[in-house]
Amino acid sequence: MKKLISVMLAVVMVLSFAACGTTTNTDKLQMATNAAFTPYEYKEGDAYAGIDIEIAEKLAEKLGMELVVNDVEFGSIIGGVQSGKYDMGIAGMTVTDERLESVNFSTSYATGIQVVIVAEGSDIATIDDIYNGKTIGVQQDTTGDIYASDDFGSDNVIRYKTGADAVQALISGKVDCVIIDNEPAKSFVAANEGLTILETEYAVEDYAIAIAKENTELLDSINAALAELTEDGTIPAIIEKYIPAE
Ligand code: GLN
Repeated sequence: MKKLISVMLAVVMVLSFAACGTTTNTDKLQMATNAAFTPYEYKEGDAYAGIDIEIAEKLAEKLGMELVVNDVEFGSIIGGVQSGKYDMGIAGMTVTDERLESVNFSTSYATGIQVVIVAEGSDIATIDDIYNGKTIGVQQDTTGDIYASDDFGSDNVIRYKTGADAVQALISGKVDCVIIDNEPAKSFVAANEGLTILETEYAVEDYAIAIAKENTELLDSINAALAELTEDGTIPAIIEKYIPAE
C-alpha cells in the first residue's frame, strides 16, 4: 500500500511538473516607443508597424520572450527605461552624450539624418537662412529640438507633441520650417502638398536601443541578437522593406 501511494505521488509530481512547463508564461519584453514616426513606428489601424517594431519582434523571438509594445510620449521613454518600467526604448532614438548619462545604448542599427522641411518657395534655402530670426517647429525632446534650441536659440523654436503637429504648424504658416529626422520628413512631404526638404543635411546620427544602465545582461543579449540578425540578413531586409534603396 505504501509503495503504491509513493508511486502515485511520484506520478502526480511528474504530471504537475509537466503541466507547469506548458502553462508557464514566457517572459515579457516591454518596449517603449512613440508610434508616430513613420516608417520606424506607426499605427496601422490598431496594429503597430514599422522597422523598429519588426526588429523588436525578432529580438524578442531570439530572447525567447514575448514583445509588449508601449506607445508613450517620446520624452518619457528614457525615464521609463531608466526606472525599469520598460526593458528597452526603441524609437528611432539617436545616441547622444547627454542620453548616455541616463541609459546605455545598444550597437547602432540604423542611421538618421536631421533635415529641414520648408514650404515650397520658402526664402529658406540653406541652414544659414534659418539664423535670420526664423521660427522652427520641432517635436519636443527630440534631437531636432535640442540642436535647434542650441543653434538658433530656444526663443525661435516652437515645440510640438508630435512631428505631425509641427508639420501642421508649418502648413498653416505658424513656423517657417520644421527640423526632423529624414524618413518621417519624407513621409510628411509625400502626404502633404507644397512641402519640400532642403538638400543640406542638418545633422547625421546613429539610432540605437536604450537599455537601463544596470541591465547589462539585456544589453549583452540584445547586442548579440542584433549582430546575428544583421549577419543573417534579417535587419537589412526589414529596413529595405520600409526604405527601399533608390
Ligand atoms: N532621432 C530623434 C531623437 O532621437 C527623433 C526620434 C523620434 O522622434 N522618435 O531624438
